[in-house]
Amino acid sequence: MRTPICSVCLQSDILCKSCARNIEAGKISALGAGIIKNLYELSRKVKSVDSVNIEKVLDFDSLVVIICQKSDVPNLVGRGGRITGELRKKFGKQIKVIGRDQYKQMIADLVFPARIEGIGKLYSGGVESLKINVQKNQLMKLPAKREDLLKAAAEISGMKVEFANQ
Ligand SMILES: [Zn+2]
Repeated sequence: MRTPICSVCLQSDILCKSCARNIEAGKISALGAGIIKNLYELSRKVKSVDSVNIEKVLDFDSLVVIICQKSDVPNLVGRGGRITGELRKKFGKQIKVIGRDQYKQMIADLVFPARIEGIGKLYSGGVESLKINVQKNQLMKLPAKREDLLKAAAEISGMKVEFANQ
């Protein structure tokens, strides 16, 4: 398992200086580290979790986004969403596992099961931003709070993100 937490810390109850510094610097949240440790515990029993490569864990109010290698998504979601379901219960937040891809695909995966019509790029005052087009009836299908999804999409794309119709 490769994660933002080092292999020594995965196996211990305390954090090394370098991992503690990453948490302090906001590279990963304490809850994100907890989720990774939970997955590590699971990987000792579930072989398919052992080989995953977790790039980042983004932590928001109602939502945690685990960014991994694309091929690892089914292994981290688990059969029928068993693993993400358990994490949701344990940590009290919606859990989304997203494979590393072009940002438009990652944002589409993020807001699923809401369906995106398209993502447009805007330039204003030399700053790029994104507008996500979704039909009004799709907004009800968003998997987490709208503002958390927008924050996650902004981290993923490196741009400010809004829904076009709000
Ligand atoms: Zn460490």
